[in-house]
Amino acid sequence: MSSKVVKFGGSSLADAKQFEKVAAIIKSDEKRRFVVPSAPGKRFSDDIKVTDMLYKCCEKAGSGIDFTEDFRLIKDRYNDIISQLGIDMSLDDEFEKIVNELKARPAKDYAASRGEYLNGKVLAKYLGFNFIDAAEVIIFDTKGSLLLDDTVKAVRARVKGLDNAVIPGFYGRTTEGIVKTFSRGGSDVTGSIVANAVRAEIYENWTDVSGFLVADPRIVQNPDVISVITYRELRELAYMGASVLHEDAIFPVRSADIPINIRNTNRPEDDGTMIVSNDYDFSRESMKHTITGIAGRKGFSTINIEKAMMNSEKGFGMKVLKVLFENGVSFEHMPSGIDTMSITVDSSELAPVREKVIAGIRKEVNPDHIEIEDNIALLAVVGRRMKNTRGTVARIFASMAHARINVKMIDQGSSELNVIIGVSENDLPEAIRRIYDMFINSEK
Ligand code: ASP
Repeated sequence: MSSKVVKFGGSSLADAKQFEKVAAIIKSDEKRRFVVPSAPGKRFSDDIKVTDMLYKCCEKAGSGIDFTEDFRLIKDRYNDIISQLGIDMSLDDEFEKIVNELKARPAKDYAASRGEYLNGKVLAKYLGFNFIDAAEVIIFDTKGSLLLDDTVKAVRARVKGLDNAVIPGFYGRTTEGIVKTFSRGGSDVTGSIVANAVRAEIYENWTDVSGFLVADPRIVQNPDVISVITYRELRELAYMGASVLHEDAIFPVRSADIPINIRNTNRPEDDGTMIVSNDYDFSRESMKHTITGIAGRKGFSTINIEKAMMNSEKGFGMKVLKVLFENGVSFEHMPSGIDTMSITVDSSELAPVREKVIAGIRKEVNPDHIEIEDNIALLAVVGRRMKNTRGTVARIFASMAHARINVKMIDQGSSELNVIIGVSENDLPEAIRRIYDMFINSEK
């Protein structure tokens, strides 16, 4: 039977009401057979996630401070859910085990993992689904890197013959049997791995937004939701700071060509965003703008180098990049002219070696002039349709010119999937708004 893997984030499982919504979503489609829950998240904006409460208990346990009261609050979270849903179960034995373990061996990953573990137990019982402890099937090496092949094999073997299962997100165990978590937000990764292992037709990632937005809602008011985005586009936008999914959640499903659907637990009627590979049937999507998304990131510097006849000097670029390499600085972009070259780098990487880099470049290529400009923001305009649309770059520049924004750098890769522009950090929000207006509002 084909299946869908459904992952629910912390806000989707923050209290009994949210559990009810989750159960209704799962029960409305019999293919939703494999469920990956997060720990209970925030119920309101200044609430505390259970994961953070557990980290706090562990810290106190490690310093020999009594954490009874902190742990009581955690117990209350689960007990409230259990009693309000009317589930016939008690977690008392589990609670006791966790407290004893924290007192004996206060390990951070173990502590944090209990949020998902307990939530998985409750959800499985509520749904009437099988429970699989993620420590049985999600396997890391002793250094903490995921062993994907072993994990996929273990999940496949464990779910064989089962109609359904709840597998808690965020953690697994090392080959030595020690509980290990992914980095924060890592339940996304578990969901992706399970989807790969059970060869799911889709990986649904249920959260509290109706998908991936065209632009940051803190900058653009009420931006549109992206209906379909390719993995490559997503990577470009995520790199620039747009985030919905854990970065490591892409590979397991992408390599198996399984689409991800970002959905909203509070608005299950919304289609959300489909994240797909390049050969998806794009005629099915509803929104068709030239661009897919816009994202920007601050904190860059450009190293501007000038030298007469630079273009005829063999190995010039190589020598400059060697200086960066030797100082541990990676470069983001490197547009050049006949006698000029400007290299955009992350300011925080450059800061500790700034003088060494300037001296090194002077020594290697003896430029006529070298200067560093800070407080640069990079803005990525991303879209698979730009390749077949003329005038995209002209429109970007027209919108910058109308807003009197000075464009300091432009870079368009040969894939024509994105255009990167460098502007002053102060201009970034307005630049994003103008591009949004030009490509989304005016194409409506
Ligand atoms: N509960 C973990 C966190 O808060 C993992 C997750 O929710 O994905 O980061």
